[in-house]
Amino acid sequence: MRKVKTLKKSLKDIKNLVIDMDGVLYVGSQPMACLPEFIEFLRGKGIGFMLATNNSGLTPAQYSAKLAKMGAQVAPGEIITSGTATAEWLTRKYPPGTRVHVFGEDSLRQAMIDVGFVLVDENAEIVAASIDWGVNFEKIKRAVLLIRRGAFFVVTNLDPTRPTEEGLVPGTGAIVAAIAVGAEQQPVAIGKPEPTMFELAMAKMGATPETTATLGDRIDTDMHGGVRAGCSTILVLSGSTGREEAEAYGPDFLFEDIAHLLRTWEAQLAN
Ligand SMILES: [Mg+2]
Repeated sequence: MRKVKTLKKSLKDIKNLVIDMDGVLYVGSQPMACLPEFIEFLRGKGIGFMLATNNSGLTPAQYSAKLAKMGAQVAPGEIITSGTATAEWLTRKYPPGTRVHVFGEDSLRQAMIDVGFVLVDENAEIVAASIDWGVNFEKIKRAVLLIRRGAFFVVTNLDPTRPTEEGLVPGTGAIVAAIAVGAEQQPVAIGKPEPTMFELAMAKMGATPETTATLGDRIDTDMHGGVRAGCSTILVLSGSTGREEAEAYGPDFLFEDIAHLLRTWEAQLAN
């Protein structure tokens, strides 16, 4: 039998959101119009949400502080990064006290400490890798040797590039590729477009995919990851996707930005 995707006709069907941050709630340090109003709208209507980003460069507390400066009140517990998701995912298989070697930034080390793991440079059971701004041969060598000696290899995400004012620069995937090639082993990846972050977010909200939507600005991560987790899709044009590409992809819902989404949602609920 042909499997037909059921298109959501109304935003009224959406009870929970997994929301990407950069390109959706802000671009860099610039908040989107109606950001505080959008968050307040969700709270007022009882629509559950979790913010979920592939960028593990800040801790949830740091993202919460960044949003507070923009006038939006979001608790650290409502934010997951690919780093905290990696740590949480690992706790399903590894007990507190497990020896983890981190190749990455302090935010990823903090995520591992927060779930009870111990940071080590020798005899690691796990090598957890992400972008490392101070990458060098010694760090790559250390990670490679630990993986070759049997450590489980996990990465926060495989984003090949990262958009900046200078243009597209190497992302986490480009950096961890050096370890994967040197260790001759492919890592397990946690961030979008894997469904893992969506599953963790839905578990925290007590949500099911049927009433949950992914809200994001990227097709290859936000939309594909959401679809793989069984969620419906809301794409906004305020980030890295142009209208032509967005329409060719055909998400369940397409909006200019969160202000446009907010106006439409309010109107649908008023009817
Ligand atoms: Mg984004």
